[in-house]
Amino acid sequence: MQIAQNAVAAFHYTLTDDEGQVIDSSEGRDPLTYLHGSGQIVPGLEKQMEGRVAGDKFDAKVAPEEGYGVHHAELMQEVPKAAFQGVEDIQPGMQFQGRGPQGEINVTVSKVEGDTVFIDGNHPLAGKTLHFAIEVTDVRDASAEELEHGHVHGEGGHQH
Ligand code: ZN
Repeated sequence: MQIAQNAVAAFHYTLTDDEGQVIDSSEGRDPLTYLHGSGQIVPGLEKQMEGRVAGDKFDAKVAPEEGYGVHHAELMQEVPKAAFQGVEDIQPGMQFQGRGPQGEINVTVSKVEGDTVFIDGNHPLAGKTLHFAIEVTDVRDASAEELEHGHVHGEGGHQH
């Protein structure tokens, strides 16, 4: 069967950036399983999964707008070290929960200079074009219960 609304699909993927650097991969792990049409994978990839069948291998290029979003300069801020009370040693790459205009956001420390900490509230992959190498391993109908819950049960899904 083909991947369509309310199908459960499993696939292996390797995600690389414009330079061909591997960002993430399912290699050595179980394939990723998702409920098609429920927004569990980035929109640009979900679109390109449509109509595929088990055994299909293809490359999918996804623009930031249909991936993890564009990069927002206003989500980059400089804050004094004193704002991080109770944190001993602030290092680039550390993540914190912060408050943004739309509620809680995850921020990543991008740089520390003296008493100033540069934080970035963008998703780490915001602004990046995503290059997926996909191999579809399985496609099946979702069960009535899965559709009701909006997620996949069993192998690769929720165990409950
Ligand atoms: Zn469930």
